[in-house]
Amino acid sequence: MRSASVPATEEQELMTKVGIVSLGCPKNLVDSEQMLGALAQAGCEIVSDKREAEVILINTCGFIESAKEESLDTILEMIRLKGAGACKSVIVAGCLAQRYADELSREIPEVDAFVGVGQIAALPGIVQLTLDGHRVVDNSRPARQWVEFEARIRATPPWTAYLKISDGCDNRCSYCAIPEIRGLFRSRPSDRIVAEAEILAAEGVKEIVLVGQDLTRYGSDTHESLVSLLRRLARVEGPTWIRLMYCYPTRISDDLIEVIASEPKIAKYIDVPLQHADDDVLRRMNRLGSSDEYLALLRRIRAACPDMALRTSMIVGFPGETLEEFERLVDFVREARFDRMGVFEYSREEGTPAADIAPRIGAATKRRRRDRLMREQQRVSLEMNKGFIGREIDVLAERNDRGRSYRDAPDVDGVVLLNGFKGAPGEMVRARVTDATEYDLVANVIDEV
Ligand code: SF4
Repeated sequence: MRSASVPATEEQELMTKVGIVSLGCPKNLVDSEQMLGALAQAGCEIVSDKREAEVILINTCGFIESAKEESLDTILEMIRLKGAGACKSVIVAGCLAQRYADELSREIPEVDAFVGVGQIAALPGIVQLTLDGHRVVDNSRPARQWVEFEARIRATPPWTAYLKISDGCDNRCSYCAIPEIRGLFRSRPSDRIVAEAEILAAEGVKEIVLVGQDLTRYGSDTHESLVSLLRRLARVEGPTWIRLMYCYPTRISDDLIEVIASEPKIAKYIDVPLQHADDDVLRRMNRLGSSDEYLALLRRIRAACPDMALRTSMIVGFPGETLEEFERLVDFVREARFDRMGVFEYSREEGTPAADIAPRIGAATKRRRRDRLMREQQRVSLEMNKGFIGREIDVLAERNDRGRSYRDAPDVDGVVLLNGFKGAPGEMVRARVTDATEYDLVANVIDEV
């Protein structure tokens, strides 16, 4: 749906104060950073106090039920500010707007614009339209090709940056609405990725986290490959860790494992969301691979790199999940020994094939299964963490009492609690591990690296 026309170029300086709330995953955060870049380039002043903002932009998430609720609560909270403070316009962007712009625009008339995920470049024009009293609703599908944005204002700490290498998804996991929201898979040209990595390195970034809905599909729509991209990124001077998130299990090749294992700058860390490990549930999820293949993959990874930190995520309570199927998942988690694991309760998303699968699993059962799987994983991760006691590790200090090792991706994993750190946040230090809990390590600083 599209209403009110958005100017193709914006020549007039936008002398207005804009505040942003960014919700959802790191991929969405990169979009938010690019939105801020586009608005600052158009003359906007970016403010952190929403009460000062004349325009409030909410970059929403619409992935699962809890994320939608958080997005809606935030919209309602910002509308209240519009009534009370400096705010003249509230703009809702991102995944929730992409998915539900039509319904939301009817139900929340106080919002001045609902714009989908493909509107970053058009945002300055949209801001101007709303300030001129127009309402904009535009959730047209994102472009088929990669669209490059130069401007970006990073919202992460100075030492860490997300680097998007692709967008969209061509997998058709039966529970997932992402392909409908973010569009078809498209790879970013490697020259642009390497150029941005060089800029980040020049800015002093020590950790670059590669993101996209499915990193292992990188290059399938162009003539490039993730392995050669990683080799090029590993040559960029400066960063200490280049970290990979979101790898599809059946597309992790021996070449990919080899490049992670052998390139010193590629963090020995891989995030492989498996989602389940019972073969029948995997079939219903329309996921490729089987429990045996996943165990074989983990063996290959560990044979090539015994210290590789492995992260995964699992979904419990998928429609029709029997007690036996769930128990097979628990057995798998015990055997697979992941360093890190996130567990999600299945969320029924309309328009996805899984929404019609019966029987549905009740909320109490889903919660019980989630808690049980988490407890199982906590036993595993405590053992894995205790294996580090006495070892020396590099830690990226983020505060004077904590940092992260190569095993800890920002926001989703644990931390290393530091004793004796006297330097400044952002420094890399060498530390000896003295204790461990289910999620975190405790370490004494030995030296700055
Ligand atoms: S790989 Fe599956 S779960 Fe992940 S974004 Fe694509 S469709 Fe969704």
